Amino acid sequence: MGNTKRNDKYHRHMPGRNFMKRLAIALVACLACLAWTAAARAAACPRAGALGTSRVLAVDAASTPQVGLKQFPQTLPLDDHEVVLTFDDGPWPATTPKVLAALAAQCVRATFFLIGKPASEHPELVRRIAAEGHTIGHHTWSHRSLMRISSDQTTEEIDHGIEAVETALHGVATRVPTTPFFRFPGFESTPAALDLLQSRGIVVFGADLWASDWNPMTPAHELKLITDRLNAAGRGIILFHDPKARTATMLPAFLRYLRDNHYRVVHVVSAEPKAQSKSVP
Ligand SMILES: [Zn+2]
Repeated sequence: MGNTKRNDKYHRHMPGRNFMKRLAIALVACLACLAWTAAARAAACPRAGALGTSRVLAVDAASTPQVGLKQFPQTLPLDDHEVVLTFDDGPWPATTPKVLAALAAQCVRATFFLIGKPASEHPELVRRIAAEGHTIGHHTWSHRSLMRISSDQTTEEIDHGIEAVETALHGVATRVPTTPFFRFPGFESTPAALDLLQSRGIVVFGADLWASDWNPMTPAHELKLITDRLNAAGRGIILFHDPKARTATMLPAFLRYLRDNHYRVVHVVSAEPKAQSKSVP
């Protein structure tokens, strides 16, 4: 009897099998809930009728080291009518906020390939891009043509750019990018630079189509050009430049066009984002 009483008391204070089973069920439910939340976050938008972001695509250098059919043989695994929106050459205070406002109005997430020098001059804008949920990739320090400089200078252009953006983002002067995504200025890659990026696990983004927004044209002309090209391609990674005023002006109409014509926006993120610490390698 004494032993039984001790055991009863013991059992009242120890988790029983039922309790452990309920805990396990709760944990599984919690994990499922987290997965659902991550998926739903892409689609959640407080504005009815907005385009929204349809899904999140994790990208890693092991399976897709180089993407974009304009430059490489392969691209991202997008379905018909899926697009990835990318913006190069920012941040630029005169126009990047207009681009961010247009994206926010439609609950759309994009990827910005930032240049290190302006990032170091406008760190608050870099942090705002990240805070609004967009992906931040890298686009060298000064946007020099990497085909016309030595391999040491190329490495410095790449590393200095990454360091400037990471410093703006996290206050950490690291040359290891939080999001290992890179785009060559003018798409001018070199075999040595491609090898370097691949050895570091950094995905090189080309593009599948673009708005040619480096050429002078009206916003209406740019809209016609990019929608015609998109309808011909049916899907793809689209390149814009957020410092271009014509693009910032055109973007709200382009996003409405995507919504009205049943295109879906895919947000690319790093499959393995690197956590930054307060150390400088
Ligand atoms: Zn560029």
